[in-house]
Amino acid sequence: MLELCRAADVKPIHAEHLRAAIYRYGQTDIDAIAELPLQLREHIHRHTSSFAPACTASQQSADGTKKLLLGMADGKEVETVLIPGKGRITQCISTQVGCAVGCTFCLTATAGLTRNLTTAEMVAQVMAGRKLTDRNVRNLVLMGMGEPLHNYEQVAEFVRIATDPKGMAFSPRRVTLSTSGLIPGIRRMMEDDLPCNLALSLNATTDEVRSRIIPLNRKYPIAELMQAIHEYIECRGDKRVLIEYVLLGGINDTLADAQRLVELMHGLKCTVNLLPFNPYPGSLFERPDDRQLTTFRNVLVEASLVAVVRESRGRDISAACGQLKTEVKTSRRQRHGSL
Ligand code: SAH
Ligand code: SF4
Repeated sequence: MLELCRAADVKPIHAEHLRAAIYRYGQTDIDAIAELPLQLREHIHRHTSSFAPACTASQQSADGTKKLLLGMADGKEVETVLIPGKGRITQCISTQVGCAVGCTFCLTATAGLTRNLTTAEMVAQVMAGRKLTDRNVRNLVLMGMGEPLHNYEQVAEFVRIATDPKGMAFSPRRVTLSTSGLIPGIRRMMEDDLPCNLALSLNATTDEVRSRIIPLNRKYPIAELMQAIHEYIECRGDKRVLIEYVLLGGINDTLADAQRLVELMHGLKCTVNLLPFNPYPGSLFERPDDRQLTTFRNVLVEASLVAVVRESRGRDISAACGQLKTEVKTSRRQRHGSL
């Protein structure tokens, strides 16, 4: 925006007006931003193109969770999810169309990676969410489709815009980036002091199981990953990281797993989110039974870990990430008779 001001030969202060109008107040009509000099408006019209993604499908769950499918300029579609909580809404943002990591329990993985999302496309998801919720989105989690650290540059820029006090003004404590464990990306977050929380999808306690369900683990095994996480906390002085653990029935939900998880978390300031596997048509895994879930959690709690069971919200509407997109694609194919 500063560059736009420079190119239009107007005072740099107008970049702030532009930023506040678009990012803070969701204004998409440049002519409606009264503070902008005519010269800048004309320059913007001449040299930029604007695009607002169209909502191509949406679903609302009985628990209030809303899922939106947004169509981008090239026709690709991404999901964003709005999850109501106590007096606040959390929005789940996608960072890629598809994902290259290939986790065997994840629906997004099945179609591989199509492309990275641009910063503007991530900003557009927030703008769509804010519009729908009367600007009530309080938390952003980068836990939608895609591996954010495989799209570092665009995601980092998005995080900066989201937390810019003169822009979208989310508190950095309320923006969380979740990764499947890309160590170089975690190191870049440290170097750049990226203003957000870090969540790690650990999901297993042995390299044997983790490599089976998250192929990336062969390159970045658990010991090296935990070392990087410890360094991250030390370097950033962050209070705690979020550890996500998808519980797959009979695969990573045993008592021995819970005990190993306690050991892995030793000396780490963290909150553990236990995510019971959310099945989808054709999935290879099962959700653990409730008794197993309680036993697993109790082992962690007895070892003084903060452990919370997080049910997938909106289980009655295509719940796991990537599901609305898959469902819409399937029904479109069925409508066109190609199944
Ligand atoms: N790629 C990033 C962020 C997107 S996935 C990552 O993997 O961390 C967000 C979270 O959803 C991850 O913790 C992932 O392990 C979890 N997840 C994916 N598919 C799931 C499913 N079917 N059931 C429950 N959790 C799932
Ligand atoms: Fe990608 Fe995350 Fe799904 Fe793994 S869990 S395939 S990293 S989106």
